[in-house]
Amino acid sequence: MLAATEFKTIIDVVTRFPNEKSCHQYLASRRWSDGVMYCPHNGCNGTQAYVFADGIRYKCKCCKRLYTAKTGTFMEASKISTMKWFVALYLVLHKKGVSSIQLSKDIGTTQKTAWFILQRIRETCSNEAPEQLEGTIATDETFVGGKNKNRHHDKKVKQSQGRSFKDKTPVLGLMQTEQRHYIKREHKVIAGRTVIEKIIDKHARLKCFTVANTKTGTIQPIVRNVVKPGSTIVSDEWSAYTGLKCLPARGCRSRERAIC
Ligand SMILES: [Zn+2]
Repeated sequence: MLAATEFKTIIDVVTRFPNEKSCHQYLASRRWSDGVMYCPHNGCNGTQAYVFADGIRYKCKCCKRLYTAKTGTFMEASKISTMKWFVALYLVLHKKGVSSIQLSKDIGTTQKTAWFILQRIRETCSNEAPEQLEGTIATDETFVGGKNKNRHHDKKVKQSQGRSFKDKTPVLGLMQTEQRHYIKREHKVIAGRTVIEKIIDKHARLKCFTVANTKTGTIQPIVRNVVKPGSTIVSDEWSAYTGLKCLPARGCRSRERAIC
């Protein structure tokens, strides 16, 4: 996107994209370069679409849903104009370390919006798959939300005790425990004295997800996605994890609830 050979200066970007339509048409030409309009909606294999008069929106002939060239990209679901995204992209790609304050002044947004833009661009440009947790992973679910007993009586949620989460949001937490080893070495100042030093091989890391519920079918796909094969899951006895023990057919001899 925004090929360096095509856009050498910021003037090139601004001149080339004077309005939303020009941005969208450029995106569309890059996205569907073979001329086939692949529908970006999940579960749809549509390849044809109606084009709206604005030259920006399309309606899939198959699933009848609307989309634009931004759908499914990092620019999706934001009210930020595509022109601002393009200028921000140019600045990030051509300048070292653009701050959110500077970007907000350059493209006329709040700093919060500029920060959001930078986050999205960096995530997209970093290309790396998010690092998986490994080693020993402690997991737990917790329910976030106010206590029912503190609610006004007409706002109390009935039968919301225990694992019921009618009034709360379930959150799944996965924590990679710190991996360390100890070495014996000479004291740096006092000659003749040895000290034991802790060397951290892997720092503790935590990942949290809000989940629709705490059922096996919801939790296990997340765990399998986030945790590296070969790791060990330590959890309470909640049955959502029991299926994670290794399948003998895969030839794995590790402990129960190991990921393989
Ligand atoms: Zn479709």
